[in-house]
Amino acid sequence: MCDTSTRIANDPALPAASRRRFLQALGAGAAAGTAVTAGAAAPAAAAPATSSGRCPARTKIVLLGTGGGPQWNSPDRTGICTAVVHDGRYYLVDLGWGASHRIVQSGIGGSDAARGPLSNLAGVFLTHMHSDHVAEWPALYLMGYTNATGRTLPPVEVFGPGDRAVPPRVFPPERPEPELVGPDAPGAGTAAMTDLLRRAFASDLNDRTRDQGQPDLSTLFSVNDIDLTGTGEIGADGVPPRLTRPIPVWEDGQVRVTATLVDHRPTAPAFAFRFDTPDGSIVVSGDTTVSENLVDLAKDADYLVHECIDPEAVERIVAPLPAEIATPLREHLFASHTTIEQVGRDVAERAGARNLVLTHLSAGTSDATWRRARRGYSGRLVVGADLMEIPVGG
Ligand SMILES: [Zn+2]
Ligand SMILES: [Zn+2]
Repeated sequence: MCDTSTRIANDPALPAASRRRFLQALGAGAAAGTAVTAGAAAPAAAAPATSSGRCPARTKIVLLGTGGGPQWNSPDRTGICTAVVHDGRYYLVDLGWGASHRIVQSGIGGSDAARGPLSNLAGVFLTHMHSDHVAEWPALYLMGYTNATGRTLPPVEVFGPGDRAVPPRVFPPERPEPELVGPDAPGAGTAAMTDLLRRAFASDLNDRTRDQGQPDLSTLFSVNDIDLTGTGEIGADGVPPRLTRPIPVWEDGQVRVTATLVDHRPTAPAFAFRFDTPDGSIVVSGDTTVSENLVDLAKDADYLVHECIDPEAVERIVAPLPAEIATPLREHLFASHTTIEQVGRDVAERAGARNLVLTHLSAGTSDATWRRARRGYSGRLVVGADLMEIPVGG
């Protein structure tokens, strides 16, 4: 049943406006391409977007936010955030802006009013420290206990990059060197960022613990830097070493999470994550150019959720900018992301991934343009949309 909505949201035979009208008629919200399950939505056409129980699959991918980059330039796409749901629990990859709201809208937090939407959150996995991937971490963290009422699970496991040893490069090299932000921690990783966050919001946190009797947030979140011992050196330019095996990250009995280092130069470390569940495997790329490590991680995956850029959109983005900003931005985008032409042919096909789901998408590019990723790819292509649900297995 869930497949129906996915098909409607991506059916090339349906003009975008038709799909939008259809989905709006299902009460799915104003976002073009927003997907709900036909089975849940049809009998309750006027149901608000916050209703739960859409896709009944035991394991599913929920694209909470599909926008790429730190621009607020689309009413349809919020910041990048992907949920893997298995057996009533969910795991989040990245926390772009708007993620908290999308969690509530999606209903993945459950429908029990006595239990907060974070009561069944099992883990958070951050791919890299760019703001479009972590901007909502402060909101999720700071408002954690008030939204985790009724939680009986262990603390939420949070994994992400550790501290970056080398400050970012100056590009182009002839530019005057800008002053480092936070010179005592210019490459703060996940644990260090969270510690700084606690200090920045000490006034609020002390109110909550001392006056309101709330527990310290360390009892709700277990924050970890991913251990890179034995993986080899990341180059000063941010290019990762070639890995011969995935990095074990976490396992909770039902779901095993592994990672690899991807190439999002000059940003490093940058991770992709693989979730192996009893119903199938899901790989989420994070931000990367074509990465051999990722091709390995996604070998024979059931679903590869991959970032993508539209070269024409890049030109639109940089066109109004002064050359000193446009040149390094264009360079960064092409050197550290994967184009429409590359993602199907050079990544998903070579990995043997059965389904390719595009996400981290810029505004202003049509679905027809994104679908050019089919060229050279023999699997099924899905163009992602906010709140789209994709069943895995069974
Ligand atoms: Zn990004
Ligand atoms: Zn990035």
